Amino acid sequence: EKKVVLITGCSSGIGLSLAVRLASDPDKTFKVYATMRNLAKKERLIECVKSLHKDTLDILQMDVTSWQSILDARDRIVEKRVDILVCNAGVGLMGPLEVQSLDSMRQILEVNLFGTIQTIQAFLPGMKVRGQGHILVTGSTGGLQGLPFNEVYCASKFAIEGACESLAILLQHFNIHVSLVECGPVNTDFLVNLQKAELGDTSLQQVDDLTLNLYGKYLQHCGSVFQNAAQDTEDIVKVFLEAIQSPSPAFRYFTSGDVPPLTKLKATEPGGSRYISALSKTMFSSEEQ
Ligand code: NAD
Repeated sequence: EKKVVLITGCSSGIGLSLAVRLASDPDKTFKVYATMRNLAKKERLIECVKSLHKDTLDILQMDVTSWQSILDARDRIVEKRVDILVCNAGVGLMGPLEVQSLDSMRQILEVNLFGTIQTIQAFLPGMKVRGQGHILVTGSTGGLQGLPFNEVYCASKFAIEGACESLAILLQHFNIHVSLVECGPVNTDFLVNLQKAELGDTSLQQVDDLTLNLYGKYLQHCGSVFQNAAQDTEDIVKVFLEAIQSPSPAFRYFTSGDVPPLTKLKATEPGGSRYISALSKTMFSSEEQ
């Protein structure tokens, strides 16, 4: 019997690559429900799986911010169960905190936090009844350590860490595993899709010069990190596969192979000052210019 997998946010990036990999598994181990908010964007996925049989992949509409949309997708699962749930949909928000509107901040939390939680809520009862399941969530370095100009994004990703860790403790009693796949920078549409203040934007006119100067340095740093150190989605997919195939999955996986050094610093100096100055140095030091 195939393992039924449902993935959110499959029109691009990590979700798309994971859907393609699982649906093309040589042993046809998986039946993949690749879901996306906007079905008009399904061409890219279809292009990647052209040669596949219909029995390993189905594409469904699902907007994680709409409970009704989640329920409609759930109703269309032929097998009437999900063995492996991958909460992957997410968006970024970048810029000085004082220019972020309440609406845009809410939108990030709607997708990243409540979207993830609502998706879990919809599939959890079934997993509990069957006494098995695996919930995987695409986590972020920004959920483990603060990053300047990403306050609300980090808040949403830190929140997911808390929700997942809390849930994992309970779900042990139901033989349901929870795993976070913690990613650093990945080559996807993430930077294109995120809401980002650009340096020339009128919204930034009210912002003080020092903040703008540091924001400029941050953007430069961010650009070079994505250019030089970003992982490919295939690397991320490998880690998902390892988690999915493990008989006793870990709670956290680090796609870079280890805890990022600066995240470690947070653990070794709980007072936090060393992390804060080390990060500031990394992002804003003049050598970056
Ligand atoms: P991406 O922008 O290519 O993919 C995100 C997907 O989520 C998109 O397909 C988007 O359409 C979808 N989405 C947005 N709102 C949605 C909604 N309301 N309902 C359903 N789907 C929605 O970027 P990605 O890098 O593949 O992002 C996937 C996950 O990885 C995100 O949770 C992101 O926070 C996380 N992540 C990405 C990076 C990175 O550097 N790319 C780093 C760490 C974590």
